[in-house]
Amino acid sequence: MNNRDIATPTRTREILKKYGFTFKKSLGQNFLVDLNILDKIVQAAELTPEKGAIEIGPGIGALTERLAREAGKVVAIEIDQRLLPILKDTLSPYPHAEVVHGDVLEMDLASLIQDKFDGRRVSVVANLPYYVTSPILMKLLEERLPLENIVVMIQKEVAERLAASPGSKAYGALTVLAQFYAESDIVTVVPHSVFIPQPNVDSAVLRLRIREKPAVDVDSEAMFYRVVKASFGQRRKTLSNNLINNLFGKERKEGMLSILEQVGIDPARRGETLSIKEFGELSNLISRHGGL
Ligand code: SAM
Repeated sequence: MNNRDIATPTRTREILKKYGFTFKKSLGQNFLVDLNILDKIVQAAELTPEKGAIEIGPGIGALTERLAREAGKVVAIEIDQRLLPILKDTLSPYPHAEVVHGDVLEMDLASLIQDKFDGRRVSVVANLPYYVTSPILMKLLEERLPLENIVVMIQKEVAERLAASPGSKAYGALTVLAQFYAESDIVTVVPHSVFIPQPNVDSAVLRLRIREKPAVDVDSEAMFYRVVKASFGQRRKTLSNNLINNLFGKERKEGMLSILEQVGIDPARRGETLSIKEFGELSNLISRHGGL
């Protein structure tokens, strides 16, 4: 431990006061003030000086400085312009930590990885703003970025959803898409008391280890997404109702039932009972029938 670490309540309050910083709830600003949790996050990412890290939302740099001590290059993407002068100050001991101003959802991350990391293996490590957790994770996964792993602090319920098994209440479209690309595990559960200000919910650190190739072979990833998203459209409805309403349309009900029969899936099942393999087989058969 270094007594000037940012992630202590005293130092964080000192920095906030020095700059007169006021939190914007709309940007999901909850800053971490617990060094043990930070250790767990950084260890889970398995960084080395040969590797790089992308952080989404550095805030005042609590996690960024930890990443900079482990990784050879850090790029931190921050949307809130008011934080830029603070980060310039707090990260001044770490010249290999670079802050990029902007909205991560609008950014071309493939180019950023290519331009800034000199071929290093890259992890995404972040305490994510809760209001955009799912779109950020979907972007990171669907764009097939060359990432080694993703370690993120997110709302506990969302972490449980991403690590869920078929048939469980938490299993949903996001689960299937995440597990298609990655193996997921929950590193630790985090009480809300370790943030300033405290959020209303508990959090968890989730790790996604990106697979070398997706969990199942699919002819078209785009079709796989469409089938998965359609199947979970309305949770209480059967698979066939969701597929009719959200994908095929009533006029192609017979064709859809015949596809389900060929693939051996009972149309009365609910989307949440299908394994990733079954979603893969279903989407492949739809593609082979000429798509939609
Ligand atoms: N990393 C810091 C920590 O752990 O203390 C701050 C985490 S805070 C939960 C989320 C951060 O994400 C804030 O700094 C916020 O301004 C930033 N943020 C919110 N939306 C963003 C977006 N779309 N793109 C980039 N950064 C964003």
